[in-house]
Amino acid sequence: LIVPDHPVIPFIEGDGIGKEISLHVQRIVDNAVDKVFQGKRKIEWKEVLAGEKAFNKVGSWLPDETMDAFRSCLVGIKGPLTTPVGEGIRSLNVALRQELDLYVCLRPVRWFKGVSTPLLHPEKVHVTIFRENTEDIYAGIEWAAGTPELEKVLKFLQEEMGVGKIRFPETTSLGVKPVSVEGTERLVRAAIEYALKHRLPSVTLVHKGNIMKFTEGGFKKWGYALAEREFPDQTFTEHIFNKIKAEQGLEKAVEVYNHAIESGKVFIKDVIADAFLQNTLLKPEEYSVIATLNLNGDYISDQLAAMVGGIGIAPGANINYHTGHAIFEATHGTAPDIVGKDKANPCSMLLSAVMMLEYMGWQEAGDLITSALETLFENGYGTSDLARFMENGKPLSTSEFSRKVIENL
Ligand code: NAD
Repeated sequence: LIVPDHPVIPFIEGDGIGKEISLHVQRIVDNAVDKVFQGKRKIEWKEVLAGEKAFNKVGSWLPDETMDAFRSCLVGIKGPLTTPVGEGIRSLNVALRQELDLYVCLRPVRWFKGVSTPLLHPEKVHVTIFRENTEDIYAGIEWAAGTPELEKVLKFLQEEMGVGKIRFPETTSLGVKPVSVEGTERLVRAAIEYALKHRLPSVTLVHKGNIMKFTEGGFKKWGYALAEREFPDQTFTEHIFNKIKAEQGLEKAVEVYNHAIESGKVFIKDVIADAFLQNTLLKPEEYSVIATLNLNGDYISDQLAAMVGGIGIAPGANINYHTGHAIFEATHGTAPDIVGKDKANPCSMLLSAVMMLEYMGWQEAGDLITSALETLFENGYGTSDLARFMENGKPLSTSEFSRKVIENL
């Protein structure tokens, strides 16, 4: 990605607490960039409309100008948006991802010392989730019970597709789960490239292929095939390990594995999703980069964030690594219960901005913000949602906390 010294970055302020956190985040980012680059680099923020603010001002939930700005500027950031009810759009977030074909939902999960967590050893969690963003049941292909469309589909399934022996009660609704080779490959490729770039030890394919043989099972099969075809010198797969074990015995397989790992290859393995969720609580250190389908990724992202106490501070991004388009976002919602109280935690959006700086190659500015946050959390400072659970917690308002971050840069 080639980023000019003064890039225009479109931002969606966001609904609800969005307006209370967006400007603080920009101020902190501007201060960090200025400290590191001494005025040579500077972000030109450009507000674009979406959500309630857009609807109230221009009568559209997602105006064309907003899409045009994200399309032409490549990198952007957004606050949380209210999901419109009964407006023909299922979700603005899904619409944005589909429009720009942002096929990776990237969620890094780490623990900040001082933040309270249900784990005994949260410091062992260093996981980056690559969630497929465009397929699976999120494609939105489903039919409601009792509609003529569903009747046609059921008739077709029963009469033409040989599922006649399964009796569906009249109240049945039905959804479709598309998973393709192309969709799987581009996601797994991005996960492997990320592991290689950051010198991480493994990529784990998380799936339910034991039950859904062709969709989730396909994901596992195509993921392994991609690693073996495109990264033969940089990866070693559990699939090959099992082949050697079957043909030449366990000892030989372990020997080849040890040699591969010693020579710096990334280990590509797989695990069934339910076992994965259990293992992450018991042995989180076994996982580094995760590649998974859309719905699994949704559950996994929230569980892992909660494990490090960071559901309110978990950052995220939606990325298309081919075109370079990326939207960084707060992962929480609009928090209607605390709007206007200066209580919102800005850290999810702030850490997403840190991811954005890294993506732009302005890593040093991102690092400055991260270490300021580390210092504050370690000393018990946070907005009340975090600080009330900390030892010696010192709850601050959004404005006070943001000021403290700037002081600590
Ligand atoms: P929510 O995340 O808005 O709130 C859940 C709880 O977490 C609330 O108690 C809230 O006060 C708290 N919370 C959330 N963010 C916080 C923050 N930054 N600081 C402190 N506390 C915080 O979820 P919800 O109530 O289910 O959804 C409200 C609206 O947000 C809905 O319209 C929903 O569709 C939308 N939503 C948007 C996104 C997004 O744009 N990415 C994500 C989730 C929900």
